[in-house]
Amino acid sequence: MTATRVLVLNSGSSSVKYQLLDMRDSARLAVGLVERIGESTSRLVHTPLAGDGERREHTGAIADHSAALKAVADELARDGLGLDSPELAAIGHRVVHGGLRFTEPTVITDEVLAEIERLVPVAPLHNPANITGIRTAQALRPDLPQIAVFDTAFHTTMPEPAARYAIDVKTADAHRIRRYGFHGTSHAYVSRTTAALLGKDPSEVNVIVLHLGNGASASAVRGGRCVDTSMGLTPLEGLVMGTRSGDIDPAVTFHLMRVAGMSADDVDVLLNKKSGLVGLCGDNDMREIRRRVDAGDERAALAFDIYVHRLKKYIGAYCAVLGRVDAIAFTAGVGENAAPVREAAIAGLEGLGPVVDAELNAVRSGEARLISPASARVAVAVVPTDEELEIARQSYELVKNMVNA
Ligand code: ADP
Repeated sequence: MTATRVLVLNSGSSSVKYQLLDMRDSARLAVGLVERIGESTSRLVHTPLAGDGERREHTGAIADHSAALKAVADELARDGLGLDSPELAAIGHRVVHGGLRFTEPTVITDEVLAEIERLVPVAPLHNPANITGIRTAQALRPDLPQIAVFDTAFHTTMPEPAARYAIDVKTADAHRIRRYGFHGTSHAYVSRTTAALLGKDPSEVNVIVLHLGNGASASAVRGGRCVDTSMGLTPLEGLVMGTRSGDIDPAVTFHLMRVAGMSADDVDVLLNKKSGLVGLCGDNDMREIRRRVDAGDERAALAFDIYVHRLKKYIGAYCAVLGRVDAIAFTAGVGENAAPVREAAIAGLEGLGPVVDAELNAVRSGEARLISPASARVAVAVVPTDEELEIARQSYELVKNMVNA
């Protein structure tokens, strides 16, 4: 029997999201998530998409990631999709930080896992959870290839002038301080899909990708390779996000420590969790913010304008970085759904080439599509991202010959 299925795991500190895909046709067989792991109110939601199984939901304590993955395995087994199936080719793990070493999806060995662990100081929130997910999956199927797909990998092609901060080189190198970028799997998928939408090969086009979810990042992609991105050492840099400030004068940090008596951890929490849209207006959901703007709420309107202003600055910057731009692609929760954000971000940029057609922009669709008139010098696209499919695809490419030899 040919092994064509890939289980994709995205392990957070208290959650696991998963999808089981069949790579013969990229079909999703089941999707789900376990959240609030370690609490008494853990919740598992499982949706089989093949066959006639129904969405199932369980609440009750799930003690740790190991128990969570066992519960997921049980749910999959109920649908005849058990993890012991010979059709399962690999488990693909989203790993947030791969540093400079991991430029490609990688089969996880003890040595690879140790390196992911060495990167914990630069990704303290994410890599530990990813490592737990990997260990748990290895315990469940020790014989199966486990693949790490890194959020940073797509950005490792950034040239030094884009990747380096202008700080003392020795200090930077001693502590691996440089710009790594994140959401790479999404930027890779969306830039490639945008090229296809233009009927071109990725090597022929220059694309600006705007990944606007709760976290948000922009990237400049030249001929399929990332040449700049807005997130840096951590996901804090760049665009205004749901709860993160994005770019800020670094002196704000030590000013708050000296003047407001805040600790480094206090400032960390302030900038990562209490800033961005939520800090500006109390809401981080763009739907709610638009509702408030439409109702005449001034704080929400200012938050929206600050968000859009930063976005415009990055679009302008990446037009300059790329020299020639073929398309600007919007993706993720806000980018795919919030027509007012797309309209406002592109408004007034005719001189640079992009134009948004109001009617096309208003269409709601789950498909990749152009929202610019044919006459625009720079196309504007909406491209639903699919990080799980991309992780599955990259994992399967790596193992298909190995497992089906
Ligand atoms: P993440 O993966 O970073 O958690 P998503 O890409 O799922 O985020 O995006 C989530 C965000 O997308 C929400 O916080 C909300 O602001 C925005 N969003 C989702 N649906 C809509 C919509 N219909 N209109 C406007 N914004 C939306």
